[in-house]
This record gives sequence, structure tokens and C-alpha cells, in this order.
Amino acid sequence: MKRFWAVICPFCGQAQGMEIRKLDSKVFQCKYCHKSRKLRQSRAYGLSIKVLGSTDNVTALPLFISEYNRLRFSKLDDLNK
Ligand SMILES: [Zn+2]
Repeated sequence: MKRFWAVICPFCGQAQGMEIRKLDSKVFQCKYCHKSRKLRQSRAYGLSIKVLGSTDNVTALPLFISEYNRLRFSKLDDLNK
């Protein structure tokens, strides 16, 4: 498993990076809206948050995330035209 993940907050939809060893806490906390959620829910298979991708390259992670957010918000701009 790779060391860093790009994940999407289920509450506010912001993409952000997290380090996989923080999974020891079993809780995702959003950097933006500060809400938290258990990563594993008892009935569901897999994780309760959306994972965009993973990498071992810590410098690639913020670039990926900012690019994701840029594309996401540019799509929203299109909708608002
Ligand atoms: Zn959030």
C-alpha cells in the first residue's frame, strides 16, 4: 500500500491528502470543515470516504489535489454560466 492518499471529504467535497499511518486512528478528519467520520463502518465493505488515488511521492500529492480541486471548481463555473 502506498504511503499518501488523496481523499474526498464526504461532507464538504474538498480533496485533501492524508498519510496512511494516520489510519491507525480509524477516523478521517477534514482539514476544511473539521467534521470527522469513521473510516470503516461496520456494515459497509471498504472505506466510508472516497479515495482518489495513492502515492509514495509526497511532493506529487498536493499538486494532484490542487489540480483536482481546480478542475472540480472550473466545472462548477461552467454550470453557473
Ligand atoms: Zn470537509
